[in-house]
Amino acid sequence: MTRDLPAVPCSSDVLVIGGGGSGLAAAVSAAQHGARVLLAEKQPRLGGTTALSVGSITAAGTRLQTRAGIRDSVEDFIADMVAFKPDLLTGDAPELRELLARESAATVDWLESLGVALVGPYPEPPHRVPRMHNVVPNSRSYIARLAEAARRLGVRILLSAEATELVRTGGRVTGAVLRTPGGPVTVTARLGVVLASGDFSGNASMRRAHLPAEAAAALPINQHATGDGHRLGAAVGAAWRRMEVTFGPQLRFPPPRRPGLVSRLPTWRWLCQVEAFLVQRLPAAALRPFVKSLLITHTSPTSALFASGALLVNSAGARFCDERTSVGALSSQDGARGFIIFDGRVAEKFNSPPNAISTAPGIAFAYFDDYRRGRPDLVYQASTASELATKIGVDAGKLSEAVHEGGLQPPLYAMGPVYSMLTVTEGGLAVDRELRVLDEHGEPIPGLYAVGGVAQGGMLLLGHGHHIAWAMTSGRVVGQLLCLTRDRTRRR
Ligand SMILES: Cc1cc2nc3c(=O)[nH]c(=O)nc-3n(C[C@H](O)[C@H](O)[C@H](O)COP(=O)(O)OP(=O)(O)OC[C@H]3O[C@@H](n4cnc5c(N)ncnc54)[C@H](O)[C@@H]3O)c2cc1C
Repeated sequence: MTRDLPAVPCSSDVLVIGGGGSGLAAAVSAAQHGARVLLAEKQPRLGGTTALSVGSITAAGTRLQTRAGIRDSVEDFIADMVAFKPDLLTGDAPELRELLARESAATVDWLESLGVALVGPYPEPPHRVPRMHNVVPNSRSYIARLAEAARRLGVRILLSAEATELVRTGGRVTGAVLRTPGGPVTVTARLGVVLASGDFSGNASMRRAHLPAEAAAALPINQHATGDGHRLGAAVGAAWRRMEVTFGPQLRFPPPRRPGLVSRLPTWRWLCQVEAFLVQRLPAAALRPFVKSLLITHTSPTSALFASGALLVNSAGARFCDERTSVGALSSQDGARGFIIFDGRVAEKFNSPPNAISTAPGIAFAYFDDYRRGRPDLVYQASTASELATKIGVDAGKLSEAVHEGGLQPPLYAMGPVYSMLTVTEGGLAVDRELRVLDEHGEPIPGLYAVGGVAQGGMLLLGHGHHIAWAMTSGRVVGQLLCLTRDRTRRR
């Protein structure tokens, strides 16, 4: 995948900064419209947070919805996205939400045309109809298919190439300086520079400056999501929007030492297509074991555990919060690490419907026994608090006190360790519906565009599949728009 480093300086029509989902989508789309594209990725491999994600993408009006007999509309999609939290989401960035809703189906169909294997749609209330599509077998196949398309279309991909500065000529952004293993390289871009650098959850000082204390202290899932594009944009006058918002932190179990089967499946195009075919046709019962393995690897334990009497203790074995209202306080405990403690009553309750420990809505549910079988590294049982404390490595006195205070009766169980983690942050650069980056006065900064997590422009994305829908849609659309601008200029 690594390309030879170019001679210094080097030129292109479009420079894309970031090789996750949105950057690859932008690069492929611009190249499909005839642009010479250079994509710079600071890591030695493509993927970003997109490759760490579950991979759901939510859209209205797709081929898969039509095949399932579902009629959908842009207006309903917009209303349902807002319905996840109307007091917060109403009117946040209406023109971007409209763009996302209007273009989402074309994006899903476009991804399919590039060989991305998607299944669904699946329900996720409050979406009134099933809209959630899932990539098969895992999110790395977005990256594999888009990278294949990029290579086919002649996109130059530079790995280990970190953009450190934007270059301006007469007020217009005309390129960027890249830090590469061979030294700095200046790339110029005739049509525009596209920031596709993801969110800032991995940047501790930006978290402290902008997020509420619990979110700021939580552990990022992607420590490389360091808000570079936010800072590069700000250095040339870009405005930031809704930097204080994140939908977290969440409790998360660590991934298993050996990744589960679904995560290990290769992303060969033919295999993905066969898997998608099987997923769409096999009865749900046949697929349940696979989905469960995803659930017990990727999803957060339900807060209903705590409403039913489970306790949260820190690494020392002590309680530190009211679990019903503030498990986010785990962020401020040592290592943001703890254990969920409960007794046989809770274990039994969370072993049958409707009380799952984690869920993929409408697809599968994972109960206590699923964790006990599938993640034995996370589940401990003991007949006394001292015995449990020894098994999980915490202070026996503190754990006994917590168990006594919580009124738990033997047998006792622990699940963990569990960490307070951030998936993504919501704040990003101000952009307009053409994905042009805006300054404090709402004026576009000539030559500068942004897509994906760095470009949410105040739009808050709550619910499954909305972030990837935005990353892929904004990327696909910016590629078209950049080339449309070129064509208009040529005609003049
Ligand atoms: C565990 C988890 C599960 C998730 N599941 C889902 C899901 O199922 N559905 C959904 O919609 N969303 C999901 N999300 C969120 C979603 O994955 C992201 O919001 C989305 O993929 C972001 O795409 P992006 O292209 O903006 O950023 P990224 O995919 O993070 O790509 C940004 C890229 O830019 C590179 N970069 C950064 N700075 C520079 C620089 N200075 N120079 C060069 N390169 C740079 C980075 O290395 C990275 O490769 C999940 C997130 C997590 C953490």
